[in-house]
Amino acid sequence: MFHFLLRTIPRPILIRLSYVFSWFAPLLFRGNKVQCPVCGHSFRKFLPYGYGGRTKRDNVLCPSCLTLERHRVLWLYLKQHTDFFTTPRKMLHIAPEQPFLGRFRNMKHLDLTTADLFSPLADVHCDIQAMPFANRSFDVIFCNHVLEHVADDMKAMRELYRVMRPGGFGIFQVPVDESRKSTFEDPSITSENDREQHFWQKDHVRLYGLDYPDRLRAAGFNVQRIDMADEVGEELSERFRLGHADNVYRCDRPLA
Ligand SMILES: [Zn+2]
Repeated sequence: MFHFLLRTIPRPILIRLSYVFSWFAPLLFRGNKVQCPVCGHSFRKFLPYGYGGRTKRDNVLCPSCLTLERHRVLWLYLKQHTDFFTTPRKMLHIAPEQPFLGRFRNMKHLDLTTADLFSPLADVHCDIQAMPFANRSFDVIFCNHVLEHVADDMKAMRELYRVMRPGGFGIFQVPVDESRKSTFEDPSITSENDREQHFWQKDHVRLYGLDYPDRLRAAGFNVQRIDMADEVGEELSERFRLGHADNVYRCDRPLA
């Protein structure tokens, strides 16, 4: 039933409904078996999420702040490995994730610009393949679960590099099929059904493989893949419901 609603209700309405839902869901899911490290709340379990096929899964969506595994993984990475929460930075957030948007806006040390192709929530509407920003504009860039939707992802990566200041860093998460050595692309696969079957979602245009970091390196970045589920250990990973499929890809633009 929940999956059916996710598939049929238009996304803008879904986002509005989710605000209402997040008021009462925490009461329904009261408990202490899982915990969201972003909002800090504990629950009996998380909600299911996914649009069907490979992406559908149980016990993953925080009823309070609507984080998924990938949000919690990123948050833990930022907390444990960076000074993101304290050091003043000029930041570009592309396709800002709903659970983070308000939080980042409230961080007074961040000078935040949000960008998206369509979203009314974004400050700037633009195509990531040709962004209206000057060279070396930003100290930090988040661009998560975007590149798998973009026709020319290599061009987008070069744009991310161009607008990043040398010495800056970015987090560019994408879904990766770790059983696949190289990324699968086929421009003749265009129908929603075929895309869902081959690329895991009806609006994805490729399925990344283990060569994803190499594509980012080709744009000039130094790349690190961090498995936070592995790092925090089995017990905490299960409590936070992290999952090994959602790695952090940190990309640094070298100083010279
Ligand atoms: Zn939460």
